[in-house]
Parts: sequence; C-alpha cells; structure tokens
Amino acid sequence: MSGEGFLESTKAFQREAFDRLDLPEGCRSILREPKRVIEVSFPVRMDDNEVRMFKGYRVLHNDSLGPGKGGIRYHPDVSLEEVKALAALMTWKNSLMGLPYGGAKGGVVVHPKYMSESEIEALTRSFTRAIAPFIGPNTDIPAPDVYTNAKIMAWIADEYSRTAGSFRPDVVTGKPLNFFGSVGRDIATAYGAYIIFKQLAKKHGFNKSTTIAIQGFGNAGYNFAKFAQQDGFKVVAVSDSRGAIYKKEGLNIEEIKKCKEEEGSVLECRGVKAMSNEEMLELDVDVLVPAALEGQITTKNANNIKAKYILEIANGPISYRADKILTEKNIIVLPDIITNSGGVIVSYFEWLQNRMMEQWSKDKVIKKLEEYMIRVFKEIDKKVEKDNMTYRQAAYYKAVKRVVDALKYRI
Ligand code: NAD
Repeated sequence: MSGEGFLESTKAFQREAFDRLDLPEGCRSILREPKRVIEVSFPVRMDDNEVRMFKGYRVLHNDSLGPGKGGIRYHPDVSLEEVKALAALMTWKNSLMGLPYGGAKGGVVVHPKYMSESEIEALTRSFTRAIAPFIGPNTDIPAPDVYTNAKIMAWIADEYSRTAGSFRPDVVTGKPLNFFGSVGRDIATAYGAYIIFKQLAKKHGFNKSTTIAIQGFGNAGYNFAKFAQQDGFKVVAVSDSRGAIYKKEGLNIEEIKKCKEEEGSVLECRGVKAMSNEEMLELDVDVLVPAALEGQITTKNANNIKAKYILEIANGPISYRADKILTEKNIIVLPDIITNSGGVIVSYFEWLQNRMMEQWSKDKVIKKLEEYMIRVFKEIDKKVEKDNMTYRQAAYYKAVKRVVDALKYRI
C-alpha cells in the first residue's frame, strides 16, 4: 500500500493503534470495515422542470458506543472511499471525546455552487427520503460538513419528520437557532480548535508575533482566523478553493471576509500578495491550519513544510506517509480527531437539548465545550509525554481502546 490515499491513511493510523493494543484479528476485522454502507440514486426536479439523478452515500462505520454521528458533505468529488474514511474518523473522534456515539458520515456528489436554493432544497429532501430508513435520533444522526449548512439541516429534520410521521428535530444537528439549533454550534468547530491552539500556546510560549496560515476560509477556517486575530495573533495567510493571499504584517480578517462575500474569493482582496494553495502550505510560518479538504500534505510536499505546528481542522489533510515525514522533522501535529471535535461536541449538546426540549445559554455551551476540549487535550498531552508518542498516536490509542472495551459486549 502507498499510505497516501485518505482511506488507506485512516486505516494505517488505526492499524498502528490496533498493534499497540495487541487486538485479536476478529476485533480488527470488525473495525476495519464499516458496519453499514448505503448508496442511493435519487431524482431531483430542477428549476427548468427537468429531472436529474444524483448519487449519495451514508456510511455507518461503528455503533458500539451509540448511534452513528457524522456530517453530510455536498461536493463534486464525494466518493464512497472518502465517506468510508470520514465515517471511521468519526468513530475515533466521538470515542476520544467520550461522547455516546458511534461514527458515521454521508455525502452527495454535487456542486452546490452551481445550483439555486430551491434546487438544493429539492436535492436535500429527496436525499433525506432515500436514506430515511437508515437514519434516526437513536440510530444515525447527521450534521453539516463541507458545503452544507444550518438551513440544509432544517430541511433534513423536516423531511425526516414527515417521512417518520412524528416530529424529530433530534434526527440531525447543526440546525438554525430559530429551529431547534444550539447556541454556539456555528462556531463550535473553530472555537474548539482555538481552545487547542491556546493550550499549545501556553505550553510552547506562543506570543503576539506567532504567525498563522489557514487553508480554507469557510465556516471553520474563517472563525478560527477571527478568534486568533481577536487575541492579537498574526494571521498572515488564508486561502479558498481558488487560491491564497499573504500579508507579512497580518491580514485584516473581517475585511477579507467582506471582500470574499462581495467578490466571491479571497483572491479579489486588495493590498495582499496572491499565491497558490500549494505555495501557502509551504510558507515559513509558526502554525499551519489546514481547514479545507483531505489529502493536502502528502509525500510530495511534506519535506517542504516549514511550519512548526500543524492543527488539523480539516479531516484527513495529512497522509499517513507524510505524517511520518513531519514527525521526523519534529513538526508537532494536532490531529483532526482532537482539533476539530468541537463541532460534534456541540452537536451532542444540541441533541441533548432537543431531547429535553431545552435551550441552553451561550455561556453554558461554551463552558461545557471548554471542559471537554481541555480535559481531552490534557489526557492526550500526558500520554504523549509519558509514552513518547505523537499526539495522533496517543489520540488513536485512547479512541480505539474505548470502542474495543464496548465492542466486547456487542458482538
Ligand atoms: P466550508 O464549506 O464552510 O468551507 C470550506 C472552505 O474550503 C471554503 O472556503 C472553500 O473555498 C475551501 N476550499 C475548498 N477546496 C479547497 C482547496 N482545494 N484548497 C483550499 N481551500 C479549499 O466547510 P467547513 O465546515 O469550514 O469545513 C472545512 C473542513 O473542516 C472540512 O474538512 C470538514 O470536514 C472539517 N470539519 C468541519 C466541521 C464543521 O462543523 N463545519 C466539523 C469537523 C470538521
């Protein structure tokens, strides 16, 4: 195997933990493959009245610790391989964070940028009907991911409720605030990652001259940039799917956001140096934050990475073999299953609120999120120091162990 693809990298990371835990083959074989894979083809009536067929997936990797939980992605490059890898990552992330969930993920092969809002609604409702027998508040609970948002989650909740014949807002999380959503869900992934950044800052003495480059200026990337800048750290580069921008003295994040909203891309912003996403990844910065898609750092560019710390907000941005190169170079990587878990933690809070028909305050949500993130960071950090592991190895070890302990009762 090459150890470069997303699914094979995920399998290689988990295999290392299986080896450390000395798992028997029976157990490994259960965890290597998803428990359930659903592939659906479904019709959507477009604005011009033509019917188009779309393909979508929902994968439940493992549910030993509870119902499946994981986002739904709308992207032209969605594939079954990708969704399988993302579902496995959710199993480990939910386990690591101590949530009562298994791991799942979904995706639709579509480019939502080229569709109207009514077409996206029709697509969402048709996809929901197609997967309705396999999702549910106690079986598998979707959430947003790349190019899906709160409105899309509301349509899923509504369509599922119609299909099920009873109102179940707890079938999906990441809903709008005025429709059973939770305060803080929109910024949860970025804020969770920022909590981890601050823990690192404390440990390694980051200061106001610490420089940060962020790949991806969407929900997670933008909000992370905002938090960092508010605290006086220097965000020198950000990017989107069209390219990257750089300013040595630090970018004005709100100005960049405004310009991206108005012009469509960060590349249209003035007073900054434009560069490619590839160049941005290799900038001489202190902290690199991949917050776009998987497979960004591979053996092709790992040797050129100059950042001293990498915080994986995106799922799977570093391949298995690239991870080994970065470790050799003493680059400290905070893996996705720690760094981006704020989203699913607040999703869990939303699910609890829905089930109790409560609405928590922002203070309560933020305080509880901080408790979860800091507790897990400290546990993993301790293991890293004690057992001379990378953060990824320590996180996988703990995550796999918790699943295996539950799995014993569920075969
Ligand atoms: P988003 O759709 O809001 O934003 C994605 C951003 O990435 C956009 O700015 C887009 O232009 C950019 N992008 C796309 N392709 C790119 C490329 N090739 N190079 C550079 N930029 C590119 O998505 P998001 O919710 O911010 O998610 C970003 C990442 O974080 C994904 O990997 C997702 O799985 C992960 N994540 C998100 C959440 C969440 O709650 N939103 C939770 C956990 C993990």
